[in-house]
Amino acid sequence: MSFCIGVDLGGTFIKAGIVNEKGDIVDSLQIPTGVEANSSLVVMQNIKDSISNLMLKNKDKKIKAIGVGVPGIADDKGNINIFSNIRVFENYPMAKELKEEFKVPVFVDNDANNAATGEFLFGAGKGMSNFVVITVGTGIGAGIFINGKIYHGKNGCAGEVGHMLIDLDGRPCGCGNYGCWEAFASASSIIKRAKSLVRKGVKTTLIKYYPDNINAKVIVEEAKGGDKISLEIFEEMCRYLGLGIANIVNILNPECCIIGGGVSGAKEFLLEKVKFYTSLYAIPFAYQVFEIKLAEMGNDAGILGSAALAFTSLKD
Ligand SMILES: [Zn+2]
Repeated sequence: MSFCIGVDLGGTFIKAGIVNEKGDIVDSLQIPTGVEANSSLVVMQNIKDSISNLMLKNKDKKIKAIGVGVPGIADDKGNINIFSNIRVFENYPMAKELKEEFKVPVFVDNDANNAATGEFLFGAGKGMSNFVVITVGTGIGAGIFINGKIYHGKNGCAGEVGHMLIDLDGRPCGCGNYGCWEAFASASSIIKRAKSLVRKGVKTTLIKYYPDNINAKVIVEEAKGGDKISLEIFEEMCRYLGLGIANIVNILNPECCIIGGGVSGAKEFLLEKVKFYTSLYAIPFAYQVFEIKLAEMGNDAGILGSAALAFTSLKD
């Protein structure tokens, strides 16, 4: 059995795990990223500590390579740029530094791309060459597989589907534009919408959770339980998800879109509605060969995706 380490660098936590070639996580850990220090040195040391802790505890397992997922852009040499709350990485040679430390091959890519690589190797994307994995959470990210490979674009920005503009006069987005897809179809967008409706005094069972405990999960639960407002909020999100997916279908003609992230926990309730709206907006000839599935990687998508990057990069 061969093993790789997958590291998921998040804004709050670093998650790392040892993964075998079948996609089982045999050991894992989680430590704070340490963003408050505002230092690449501190974050890199935390990443190194997480890897060396795993290696020390698992001396019997030979680690073939390390994969890292970052919430930013990585070039093919593993130099990274991050623009979110871990802004300390600017053209930073992450792969080179980790390779020197641990003496094994190291591969780094964007976390949404790794989520797609994880589905490709271990999950719902097995056997497919042209598909898109969208991760619906705080924002919406995508990993795009074209002809069996992640498509990075000219400088690594491909897949920023969350900022696809769907309404120029629409809601403001964190990126500075108005009407981005993720301002209508992400988990945070429906939480915001729900809170504003409760604040307005609209009659809804969501009031039980207001303000701090309103999340995507309770909106889905209340919608299923018959709360009209929750259902309306969820239906609207599905309509916008379908609209954005239809745009992707029309541009890329993929065989599948795999939906991951917290929202995918709504399972068939989500799938049925998103399929319906996608079918309304996509070009019929492209839609007839297209399917929508739920991601299979779940909570461990970050670790598994990063390990999948390591396994697939070794094969290249
Ligand atoms: Zn935006």
